[in-house]
Amino acid sequence: MEVIFLGVGEACDERNPNTSLLIYQKDTCLLLDCGFSVAHEFFKHEKDPNKPDIVWISHFHGDHFLGLPLLVLRLWEEGREKPLYFIGQKGLSEKVTSAMKLAFPTLAEKISFDYIFNEIHEDEKIEIKGISFQGAYTEHVQSNLAIKLICGEKSLYYSGDGPPSEKCYPLAGSCDLIVQETFLWDKDIYGHGNFLSAAQFARKVGAKRLAAVHMKRDERDKIITLFEKNRDMFKEIEIYIPNSGDKITL
Ligand SMILES: [Zn+2]
Ligand SMILES: [Zn+2]
Repeated sequence: MEVIFLGVGEACDERNPNTSLLIYQKDTCLLLDCGFSVAHEFFKHEKDPNKPDIVWISHFHGDHFLGLPLLVLRLWEEGREKPLYFIGQKGLSEKVTSAMKLAFPTLAEKISFDYIFNEIHEDEKIEIKGISFQGAYTEHVQSNLAIKLICGEKSLYYSGDGPPSEKCYPLAGSCDLIVQETFLWDKDIYGHGNFLSAAQFARKVGAKRLAAVHMKRDERDKIITLFEKNRDMFKEIEIYIPNSGDKITL
């Protein structure tokens, strides 16, 4: 599985696009979240209008789903033919359809490819194109589903926004990679997680690697410095603070 961090920023960060992951598993291309600034990043990496195959939306804050109208517009303009699968929590179809209508009122009538909505509940597991998806709600200010993906031998947990709830622990158990929202260094604030708690979470569930993303724009540099200074505190787990555009292979 190849994972590209299209963005690692929070909603208002002018230096880092909104947090989003582009994943390639064999022939399948999957986009995890698509905020305001993500569609442009996607098109820098992928020129085939029949990609992505699947888009996962964690929740309905703009930095996680309001890039979708632009994504769909350009895929249509460039001649997409294959169906596009959307997966997310209840309300996905209504929210995405409304956002598209607001952004480009006549787009929905013109689109020549099928788009298929799959709304899942916590604990429900679905499989699309050989990738398994299972969600659990985090402790965010609005309903946010963290997701566990299983692709063959590899597994990845992506938090979306918010620190883990109790249900997230078994979901994230033994994942090859945990991608966790970490807004501040050591405090939770407004339904956002922090770096020290994310490291504890990853250690507790036996993850192999943690990628910390979605840092507050004016705290990111400080968190990176504190992490470098205190590396000894995190010996048992491999922790990584990706930059936008970084790639890793699982
Ligand atoms: Zn966010
Ligand atoms: Zn949010």
